[in-house]
Amino acid sequence: MGAFLKKLIDLGVLPIRTRSSRGYRPHLSILFRYEMQHVFGIDTTPHEDSHTLLITHAHSDHYGRSAMLSPKSIASEKTAKALEIIYGRRFVGTTFKVEDCVDVDGVTIRTHPTGHTIGATAFSWENEVGTHILATGDVKDASHLPRCDVLITEANYGDPYDPQCRFADDLGALKDAIKENVAFGAYSFGKAQRAVKLLRSLGYRDEIEMDHRSLELTRELMEHVEPLADLGENGKMSIVPPWDLHRLPNHLDKFVLTGRDCSHQRIKISDHLDFNGLMKMVHDCNPEVTIIYHPPGDRPAKLAQYLNENGFTAIPIDAITNVMIH
Ligand SMILES: [Zn+2]
Repeated sequence: MGAFLKKLIDLGVLPIRTRSSRGYRPHLSILFRYEMQHVFGIDTTPHEDSHTLLITHAHSDHYGRSAMLSPKSIASEKTAKALEIIYGRRFVGTTFKVEDCVDVDGVTIRTHPTGHTIGATAFSWENEVGTHILATGDVKDASHLPRCDVLITEANYGDPYDPQCRFADDLGALKDAIKENVAFGAYSFGKAQRAVKLLRSLGYRDEIEMDHRSLELTRELMEHVEPLADLGENGKMSIVPPWDLHRLPNHLDKFVLTGRDCSHQRIKISDHLDFNGLMKMVHDCNPEVTIIYHPPGDRPAKLAQYLNENGFTAIPIDAITNVMIH
């Protein structure tokens, strides 16, 4: 792995992980080689060496909950709004509209939609030696991402040998389910809004009932999705978190919208690229080095190994051993 890190350093990119007394902080930070005042934390928690905290989206495993309380944080307007609704705290950082640029101490950061959740953003910037760096967060649609020299990305479905990592969204099954009295299990932030968008795009115009949290997030973050309503007695169509499906009446046909296995009837609708999509993204972004920074577990290493065996240069976050201790 040392050779990969040397290549990164030649590109002016020093990836580091920081530790506290409780172990590694989440994800990583990127140092600029020559201008050490620039340290960009990516989906990590605030610490004194990080001058800028880039929050890609409002899912809890990307740590906006603590980063949102730092004036150093940067997030899209909709990510900031989602964090405020989810955590009941005020976002105190800098916000932007996705696809606008943000200036940080003279560094222009471009922002790109990834289609993973409402407000989900990839960030790209050029360092002092002309290296283009792109940090994607989680990705559903890579078509708006620019080419880059260093790609920092995810591997939620990055295991090349797991058949569950290759799929297409089953919009046909979702369309068929619209005919019945039906309830969909979908996480309140992310999947629930994807479900509403897909149901409307499939032509469903009647009322969709949602649990309170999902309804608030959907109304605050989306336009042209009414009629929506709170959960009622006779809802023909409802969306609730998967673990609340059993609370709804038994006569409803119940499905969980997920890319993963589950105990209910499932309709395969994912918020992520599958393995083939991840490979196409890396191919299209055409980086010299790819850093796989998410999720926890062995998938970053599996995707990195596959990339290294297939003509790319990749390093998983676990192999990053540059550490600052606080
Ligand atoms: Zn996510």
